[in-house]
Amino acid sequence: MGFSTDAIHAGQDPDPTTGAVTTPIFQTSTYVQQELGKHKGFEYARTQNPTRTALETCLATLERGERGFAFGSGMAAITNVTYLLRPGDHVVASNNMYGGTFRLFDQVVRHYGVTFTYVDTSDLEAVQAAWTKATKLLYVETPTNPSMIISDLRALATLARAKDAWLCVDNTFMTPYFQRPIELGAHLVVHSTTKYLNGHSDMVGGAIVSNDAVISERLQFLQNAAGAVPGPFDCWLVLRGLKTLSLRMERHDANARAIAAWLAKHPKLTKVYYPGLPDHPGHACHASQASGFGGMIAFDTGSIEAGARVLKATRLFALAESLGGVESLISHPATMTHASVPRAEREKAGLTDGLVRLSVGVEDIEDLRADLERALAAL
Ligand SMILES: *Cc1c(COP(=O)(O)O)cnc(C)c1O
Repeated sequence: MGFSTDAIHAGQDPDPTTGAVTTPIFQTSTYVQQELGKHKGFEYARTQNPTRTALETCLATLERGERGFAFGSGMAAITNVTYLLRPGDHVVASNNMYGGTFRLFDQVVRHYGVTFTYVDTSDLEAVQAAWTKATKLLYVETPTNPSMIISDLRALATLARAKDAWLCVDNTFMTPYFQRPIELGAHLVVHSTTKYLNGHSDMVGGAIVSNDAVISERLQFLQNAAGAVPGPFDCWLVLRGLKTLSLRMERHDANARAIAAWLAKHPKLTKVYYPGLPDHPGHACHASQASGFGGMIAFDTGSIEAGARVLKATRLFALAESLGGVESLISHPATMTHASVPRAEREKAGLTDGLVRLSVGVEDIEDLRADLERALAAL
């Protein structure tokens, strides 16, 4: 089936007991058993919940993976990826990731004997140079948050596979509507479903999609053993959001392209980061592996004071963390989403104090542009 059809139907046949067209919210912690050892495949809701299964099936279908696993947050999903590792294993990771992922790796997982090297994963030679005999996982985001650096997923997958390691891609920014890393060779995809997949800023959740039966079996064990599962209502909210994913992504993309083109010509801005701009260094690579550019833009105002003036002056773009909802948001990565990344690491990745990030929503483009025009006049 086509992507939009799958987003509405995959894993979501009408309920066999009632005919309900929408997957019910199975708000239960346990399931009755007919007799000892005889049940309908559901024993306890940490292990299995039908609303969660519907979401996991839908996500696996959309990412063209083998199995999907839903978690209580994006960070819980990424934590479960790290549970695939053992003490002594080494990870090569992008030096410009979501701040919470760096914090998890550096302040939690590192203490369990796993080592990390952070490199610019858009530079294949740097990735190769960071590789050791113990490297088990290559972990990347593309585009990165918030500097929008693009990594070549086909090349990274080929490299990881040649060395018997896994490639895991955080696909939160692009969603499977625009980019499907598994089709490009990745073993694992992670998501913060909090963002575009839910799309309405009304829950927190995460997911892993695996393309390898052995990894899937381990993930199923870990999901139950570690227990960071989402509740059925939150799963249902993501299922509901997914039904309009293709429509929303088209609009996010169209609005962001128009705003990025306009910002790029603005005399007061020193730099605009958007992979859809033809002079973006990753433009051609991104266009070869994704079918759209998404709704995230960053631009440099030159200083923290100038950034603060812009953040204060917008009315429609709300000052808030997070991204990917229907409403437009504006944020300051250095003090908000990336405050836990040391300044030296931040600056290596172009994450300056004057950088402002936009999550462009699906409102009318004229209103969004007018709001930014007014705010940039404060520069
Ligand atoms: C938000 C986000 C996360 C973390 O997800 P939560 O749902 O907030 O735990 C991970 N990666 C990216 C790219 C994100 O934007």
